[in-house]
Amino acid sequence: MLNFAVGPVPSNDQVRAIGSQDIPYFRTKEFSEIMLQNERMLCGLAHAPKDSRVCFISGSGTAGMEAAVMGTLDRQDRALVVDGGSFGHRFVEMLSRHHIPHDVIKLVYGTALCEGDLLPYEDKGYTAFLINLGETSQGILYDAELIGSFCARNGLFLIVDTISSFLADPFDMEAIGADVMITGSQKALACPPGVAPIILSPVAMERINRIEQPCMYLDLRLALENGKRGQTPFTPAVGTLLQIYARLQAIEDSGGAAAEVSRVARIAQNFRDLIVDLPLDQRLTSPSNAVTYLSTRDCSARKIFEVLKDEYEIWVCPNGGASAEKSFRVGHIGEHDFADNALLVAALRDVCRRGLMG
Ligand SMILES: *Cc1c(COP(=O)(O)O)cnc(C)c1O
Repeated sequence: MLNFAVGPVPSNDQVRAIGSQDIPYFRTKEFSEIMLQNERMLCGLAHAPKDSRVCFISGSGTAGMEAAVMGTLDRQDRALVVDGGSFGHRFVEMLSRHHIPHDVIKLVYGTALCEGDLLPYEDKGYTAFLINLGETSQGILYDAELIGSFCARNGLFLIVDTISSFLADPFDMEAIGADVMITGSQKALACPPGVAPIILSPVAMERINRIEQPCMYLDLRLALENGKRGQTPFTPAVGTLLQIYARLQAIEDSGGAAAEVSRVARIAQNFRDLIVDLPLDQRLTSPSNAVTYLSTRDCSARKIFEVLKDEYEIWVCPNGGASAEKSFRVGHIGEHDFADNALLVAALRDVCRRGLMG
């Protein structure tokens, strides 16, 4: 089975080998040391500001998003949130559910945030800004510089979901001026799902200490306190954290975040080059390296997904809702190489030759 989903994604042999072992007991100095190293490596790879800390939330990326919303914002805030796809919309729903006053910048799905979208919100007394740097559902990467300068100008507390873009697209937490950066184990970290690391700047920690933490399990103050000694308040996804440790070390040893990002960029570009003559329209609006968004012409995208899965043992990533019939996505994160791309493209060509692609 060849997996081109955008998470979970294929893992390397080392990560898989760890997954085949028993899970060790974790209230030990050995595990604490691994956790402190995980924290150090993540801060380095994300270019986190000095004295930033990491909370390792057990749960998928959404748990990380919600922990960040609950733990760093409250009813005194006025948040601005970008809804450019299903993940942006998820932030909107969280803000509503947690009664945090907010306004929504609703984009036409499939378009990138631009200066004009922000103009009406300059100098309007907002306190916080939430955005998914990569809106994975649309295959779009927003402009970090645009976001960073808007937030700096307006003094906004910035929460960035980089769940699919971290290690796939360039990210510099300090340069963008983010206070909270959220990622997930099953995207470009290429580990099993189960851990959502959240990087917190000193400004974020000041908020966490001030704001009442409404949820015990996702209490960031408690997580930070335990994290000082490399521990978590409750049993974490121990196995996934050991896999993250191996993966982060391997990335550090082979040139760091920049090298990993350019590896993913090459895989993405190779795929995009190989399919130019197929009857599929690539979305060219500010594409993320993590994923390619493809529209079909006169055929069902859902059907292509099914045929690839059932007859070629290849998974691509179907879209939900209104787009399900018209588009699908191909992920480039995880343990992929040009040979994988060649197999996928050969299958797509065969589907096309059989007249299934319109
Ligand atoms: C995958 C993803 C998430 C989290 O999804 P989970 O299923 O909860 O892991 C959040 N935001 C973005 C941008 C994502 O790509």
